[in-house]
Amino acid sequence: MTGAMPLDCLIVGGGPAGLMAAIYLARFRRSVCLVDAGASRAALIPRSHNVPGFVHGLSGTELIERMSVQLDELAVPRVDAEVTGLQRHDQGFLASWNGRAHAAAVVILACGIVDTHPPFDEWRTAVADGLLRYCPVCDAFEASGRRIGVIGPLSRAAGKALFLRGYSKDVMLLATDRDDDQAATSRLAEADVDVLFAPDLRLRRRGELVEAVFANGRTAQFDTVYPAMGAEARSQLAVSLGAKHTGEGYLKVDDQQRTSIDGLYGIGDVVTDLHQIAVAFGHAAVAACTIHNSLPQRFA
Ligand SMILES: Cc1cc2nc3c(=O)[nH]c(=O)nc-3n(C[C@H](O)[C@H](O)[C@H](O)COP(=O)(O)OP(=O)(O)OC[C@H]3O[C@@H](n4cnc5c(N)ncnc54)[C@H](O)[C@@H]3O)c2cc1C
Repeated sequence: MTGAMPLDCLIVGGGPAGLMAAIYLARFRRSVCLVDAGASRAALIPRSHNVPGFVHGLSGTELIERMSVQLDELAVPRVDAEVTGLQRHDQGFLASWNGRAHAAAVVILACGIVDTHPPFDEWRTAVADGLLRYCPVCDAFEASGRRIGVIGPLSRAAGKALFLRGYSKDVMLLATDRDDDQAATSRLAEADVDVLFAPDLRLRRRGELVEAVFANGRTAQFDTVYPAMGAEARSQLAVSLGAKHTGEGYLKVDDQQRTSIDGLYGIGDVVTDLHQIAVAFGHAAVAACTIHNSLPQRFA
């Protein structure tokens, strides 16, 4: 363990949620350190059109860069590393990264999630070019009137397909299982969404289109495809301490963003909620204010 004074707050994760929490806590004159492993979902966003104040949108990397400059102005220490362990400690928590342990009174987990991708070798460039999209709430507006494919288990993908039907007449659900969800099947039929059973399908790029290749060799082309295949919540650090979580691994938090472990907070995509930058910002503000009020007051 380092001999330094324990931090007021350690923030694990440097996406929009963690960066926002760091800005608030630094402005509350709290000692804070942000550790980030460098795999933010936000970094995949080619151009977001629902971040307030950016009339013509901005990319996820630009948002992260702009917030990072704010952190630099506030002299917040940042470490590029993965936090590999988290334990209880008499002064709060001990977190390990780069082979050393560091003490903090309070910890915020802002570790995000990892999407499950469909079989698509070029998925990363397809996301960059808007051919593969993960967030209809964010960008269905930009997909209006296009040929849209939704891929995933029928029960999971049905909601996304129906939502997208509000933006295009041409929505096809590529079901990766033979789910017998009658209610979903009839809602899809009523909404005129075609459903194709395609368990062994793979995707490939055809210029500015995505091509689905079925097991029998037949193909179908789409302007854009939305996977609905679930995600892995990066909640292991909290779960290993016994924090309550949903069946899918999302951390359960109260309305102050407190997990079931005293002094441990969860914000952003890793808590069960709507996966949005604006929501991550709101979580961060609430958690930071709660933390500031929970720590001993310091006078200037
Ligand atoms: C293609 C795409 C487009 C999107 N478009 C929009 C949009 O237009 N508008 C919108 O509001 N939302 C959009 N989203 C959603 C948005 O990206 C997320 O809601 C947002 O990034 C969540 O922020 P976060 O900080 O919770 O998680 P993330 O941004 O995923 O950041 C989590 C960070 O924690 C780090 N981390 C994890 N574990 C550890 C560890 N143990 N130690 C250290 N660091 C760790 C990760 O490396 C990562 O850098 C989009 C998502 C995708 C994939």
